Amino acid sequence: MIRFLAAVAVALFLAAGAAAREIAITFDDAPTADSATMTGEVRTQTLIAALKTAGIGQAAFFTVPRGRTRADLTRLEAYAGAGHIIANHSNTHRNLRDLTAEEYIGDIAAADAILKPMPGFRPWFRFPFLSEGETREKRDAVRTALRAMGYAQGYVTIDNYDWYLNSLANAAKKEGKPLNESALRDLYVETIVQAVEFYDAIALKTLGRSPRHVLLLHENDLAALYIADLATALRAKGWTIIAAEQAYKDPIAAIEPDTLFLGQGRIAAIARAQGMKPMELIHEREDEAVLDRLFNERVLAPR
Ligand SMILES: [Zn+2]
Repeated sequence: MIRFLAAVAVALFLAAGAAAREIAITFDDAPTADSATMTGEVRTQTLIAALKTAGIGQAAFFTVPRGRTRADLTRLEAYAGAGHIIANHSNTHRNLRDLTAEEYIGDIAAADAILKPMPGFRPWFRFPFLSEGETREKRDAVRTALRAMGYAQGYVTIDNYDWYLNSLANAAKKEGKPLNESALRDLYVETIVQAVEFYDAIALKTLGRSPRHVLLLHENDLAALYIADLATALRAKGWTIIAAEQAYKDPIAAIEPDTLFLGQGRIAAIARAQGMKPMELIHEREDEAVLDRLFNERVLAPR
C-alpha cells in the first residue's frame, strides 16, 4: 500500500512537472521617455537593479530605435550589458493596418539595420499593438518577409493593460494627486497575475498543457518599481521565471494561427482559430473603464 501511494505521489509529481508553470518577462517600447515619476535613465537603472534583485537573468526588450539619442542607446546597451535581450519592435511603431505591407516591412528593416550591431540583439520581431493587419494577404506578406529576413516572431502569450495603469499613475502625479503607492503596487501585481492565470487557463483548454509563457509588459515606471514584487507574487503561485530564449523554444513558437484575432497574443489566437469566441479571450482588466474604477477606488482613495 505504501509502495502504491509512493508510486501515485511520483506520478502526481511528474504530472505537475509536465504542467510546469513557466514564464518569461518581456518589455516593449524601450527606451521610453522621461515621465512625471522618473527620467528614462533612472528608469533603466532602477529596472536593471530590480531584475537583478528578482533573479530575472534574461528579459527581452522590444525596441523602437528611430530618433534615439546617444543617451537612449546607452540605456539599451545597459540592458544588454546586464544580460538582457534587445529585439525589434519596428522603427516607428506604426500599426500594420495603417501601412502597406511593403512600407511596414521597410520599417522593420530600418529598425533591423540600427539594432543588428547592438550587443544582446536577437532577430525577433514584435508587432506594435500586436497588430498583424486587417487582411490575410497583408498578414501573410509580413510573416513571409520576416522568415526571409531570418526573423522569429516575438509573440506574447499574456496580454494586459500595464501601460494604461502606468498612464493613470503618471497623470495623477502630474496633477499633484496623492497616490497610495502600496495600493498601486498591489493593483499592478494583482492585475498582471490575474492575466497570467486567465491566459494559462485558456492554454490548458486549447493546448491541453501550460506552454512556456511570454508576458508582455512595457518598459515603464510601474515595471521599474514593481517587477520584483510581481516576480515574488508569480513564484508564490508556482510560476518559474525563465529566460526569454527558453520561452521561445516552446512548440507554440512554430504555430502561426490562421486568424486575424491576434491582438490578445498567441494563446488567444490559437483558441480563436479553434472556434472560441473573442469575448471569452479578453481578460476583464483589458478594459480602461474597469481599470479607471479600480485605480480611483484603491489608489486615489484616502488611506
Ligand atoms: Zn509597442
